[in-house]
Amino acid sequence: MEYFGGQITKLIEQLSRLPGVGAKTAQRLAFHIISMPEEQTEILSKAIVDAKRNTHYCTKCHTLTDGDLCFICKNPKRDSSTIMVVENPRDMAAYERTQKYKGLYHVLHGAISPMLGIGPSEIKLKELIQRFQNEDIKEVIISTSSTLEGETTAMYISKLLKPIGMKVTRIASGVPVGGDIEYIDEVTLLRALEGRTEI
Ligand code: ZN
Repeated sequence: MEYFGGQITKLIEQLSRLPGVGAKTAQRLAFHIISMPEEQTEILSKAIVDAKRNTHYCTKCHTLTDGDLCFICKNPKRDSSTIMVVENPRDMAAYERTQKYKGLYHVLHGAISPMLGIGPSEIKLKELIQRFQNEDIKEVIISTSSTLEGETTAMYISKLLKPIGMKVTRIASGVPVGGDIEYIDEVTLLRALEGRTEI
C-alpha cells in the first residue's frame, strides 16, 4: 500500500485495526476522509478524542456515559425497582431499542469464564451487590447471553441474590443458545423479556 504515500498508508493501517473493518473498507474510508472538507475531518477527529477523553462508567449502572449518571439512571420516569443485568453496553442498547423496558440496568462488562480466567471479581458484580444497600430493588432480570459464560454468570448471580430474598428472573429462551444479544431483533428480545422465569 506504500504507493499511496506514508500518510495515507498510516491512516489506512489505523482504520483497518477497527473491528469489522477489512483492508478494502479501510482504504475506502481513508479516501473518503481525505476527500472530506477539512473542517469536517476536524469535527470527526475531535469527536473521537472527546468521546475517548470524557467517557467513563455511570456511577450507578456502569454503562458508558460522559456525565456522573447516565440518561437512564437520571430519568425519574424509569422504574428503579427493577434492574436488568447485561454483559455490556451494547446489550443494554439492544433492550433500549425495544422501547418497552422501563427499569434500570446494571452492566457487568463481561461474564464469568473459568476457561479465560475471568472470575467474579473481574466483572462489576461487587458493584451490583452494593446497589442493594442504597436502592429499593424488587426484581433483578438477568439478561446475560445464552453462552456458557452467560449461563455461568446468571447462576452465580442467582445464588448470590436468592439468600437475601431477591426476586431473580432469567430472560426466556427466545434468545438462541450462544446468541449475542446485540444482534437479536427487537421482537425476539421483547418475547424473551416478557417470558422471563424466576430462577
Ligand atoms: Zn446509569
